[in-house]
Amino acid sequence: MSIKSFNPNRIRNKFPILNKKINNNQLVYFDNAATTQKPIQVIESINKYYSEYNANIHRGIHTLAEKATQEYEKTRKTVSKFINSRSEKEVIFTRGTTEGINLIASSFVKNFIKKGDEIIISEMEHHSNIVPWQMICEENEIILKTINVFENGEIDLDNFKELISNKTKFLSIVHTSNTLGTVNPIKEMIEICKKNNIITMIDGAQASAHSKIDVQDLNCDFFVLSAHKMYGPTGVGIVYGKEEILEKMPPYMGGGEMIKDVNFKKTTYNELPYKFEAGTPNIGDVIGFNEALSFINNIGLDNISLYEKELKNYASNSFNEIEGINIIGNSKNKIGIFSFTVDKIHYYDLGLLLDSKGIAIRTGHHCTQPLMDKFNLEGTARVSLAIYNTKNEIDYFVEKLKQLIN
Ligand code: PMP
Repeated sequence: MSIKSFNPNRIRNKFPILNKKINNNQLVYFDNAATTQKPIQVIESINKYYSEYNANIHRGIHTLAEKATQEYEKTRKTVSKFINSRSEKEVIFTRGTTEGINLIASSFVKNFIKKGDEIIISEMEHHSNIVPWQMICEENEIILKTINVFENGEIDLDNFKELISNKTKFLSIVHTSNTLGTVNPIKEMIEICKKNNIITMIDGAQASAHSKIDVQDLNCDFFVLSAHKMYGPTGVGIVYGKEEILEKMPPYMGGGEMIKDVNFKKTTYNELPYKFEAGTPNIGDVIGFNEALSFINNIGLDNISLYEKELKNYASNSFNEIEGINIIGNSKNKIGIFSFTVDKIHYYDLGLLLDSKGIAIRTGHHCTQPLMDKFNLEGTARVSLAIYNTKNEIDYFVEKLKQLIN
């Protein structure tokens, strides 16, 4: 499909929820940075698993168990291709980005980073890329440093370079900010880290449904994402890690599945990736995730990026014409996320009033309180766009917002 033949209405038809009326108005879903809606093929595949081949995976030899295992492992193959990992062993299923970051903090950082060493994050991180580092740093007496973010929402690369010392051992940085939409120059940052022997982790939660991810090209050591922000189910995510690093890391959780042999004298662990997948996983939703990736692949990430860029520019021009609106962050390289405040209307009231018109937006600190502090704000309203949104929806939103302001 080329961008010329791209028809958002054909895409919209695949999402049953988009036909819903909210408060007697057609739903306009602009809360995609919190979670995206799910196409029918994802919903049906989960239904099919439970109604046709529900069974636990890996251990069973009966037909249902084999089918469930096959489908579950099929998703791992698709993810591996999607992010271009060297091997499927480098793809570990988790509950989502948050669990992925905690896995890396508990297994890698706890064991390979010493007292007095330094970890760098940035001021625009989501709480899930702040708090696990604070916890592990406190426990192990590691120093946590934060990269400055400019007023326009861009990362301060000079400050990043200044923060690096011979004690810096780890960088954990967001690819695309869920609050500002900023796309960070992560390839450049990873290159700088490689020259300084710093291990890198990329929080790809807000990036993976909007731009192509190639972990080999990026040369990052870890990459984490969540399926629910990619048209997939909640409760599924992945950690990508370079095989040689994952091999050295101890398991994150103990239990079934992650073992080779259990003995009261000595237990040995399973091979990659199963060493990190203790217990019965979220089988049905992992299977559903495969369909979400097919949905994205069928449109093509290049087409998605092009269409979303057009939509972002359209929204940006329309919002700039609204008197009394203040957009937070206007990075040169950003996706369709607009955090804003409106003079004299609290963002919370804005959210409720727009909901009465059928428009779903997010209000609050977006799990980025330090960033809000930086901008002297308690919170903002946020519009975040996805592949099924249209210019008509933006027009409708602008019309309703103008009416509220007036
Ligand atoms: N990082 C970023 C940039 C995010 O946008 C989110 C989700 N909003 C997370 C981390 C956390 O993801 P999850 O809640 O799926 O674990």
